[in-house]
Amino acid sequence: MYAKINVLFQRLCDVVFPRTCPLTGEPLGDDEGGHYVSAKGLQEIQFVISPCCQTCGAPFYGEMVGKCDCIHCKELTAVFKSGRTLFLLSGGGRRLVHNYKYNGAQWLLADFERFAEHVPGYLDHLRNGTLVPVPLYKKRERKRGFNQSLLLAERFARAASGETCVQELLVRTRNTPSQTRMNREERLKNIDGAFTVHPQAIIEKGRRYIIVDDVFTTGATLNACAEALRDAGAENIHIATLAHG
Ligand SMILES: [Zn+2]
Repeated sequence: MYAKINVLFQRLCDVVFPRTCPLTGEPLGDDEGGHYVSAKGLQEIQFVISPCCQTCGAPFYGEMVGKCDCIHCKELTAVFKSGRTLFLLSGGGRRLVHNYKYNGAQWLLADFERFAEHVPGYLDHLRNGTLVPVPLYKKRERKRGFNQSLLLAERFARAASGETCVQELLVRTRNTPSQTRMNREERLKNIDGAFTVHPQAIIEKGRRYIIVDDVFTTGATLNACAEALRDAGAENIHIATLAHG
């Protein structure tokens, strides 16, 4: 019944506000469901499939022999045990993340959930864990109107099902400047000690915690979050991001 109403509502919306793919600009047909990225648009996204770095999720290319060093995270002393990402922050992937984060395109969440379902192993990485979104400083969250990591975590938890849940365990203690133009050292300094665990939070030592963020760049932010969880007693910490780059 509800599914039928949803389909009818979607069709009505399509008449009033025709949907187009944000990557190709082509109009979307009924068969696209509630999603926005068309089949052709999907070809502009570089999804990450195995083999990939176990720490940051970056893909490895070519023949795999022996131990693989990842150029993206080899200088990171990771506090977390493993990580996965969905797609590369380049081409169509970069445009989607930019639209979502800076233009408030929350309608893309339906696509991100679909991507998580289709990238092999991604939901297995999350399943039955507690997803912990990277928090924004309150002032920045009010300005943006939403926390992009929290909305992603909610979608991913729904897709992973089972006992997977979302808990906002972390607090950002100070407003850190945007890291977009910072190098690795500047990012580390900028984010050091910027997170703490919520005073009322209960941390279960052996529970699988997965910190969720929109993008993995140097890993400085995710690692600072992992440090805060570790200092509060967590021992089984992982990360998951939407994009890598
Ligand atoms: Zn890596």
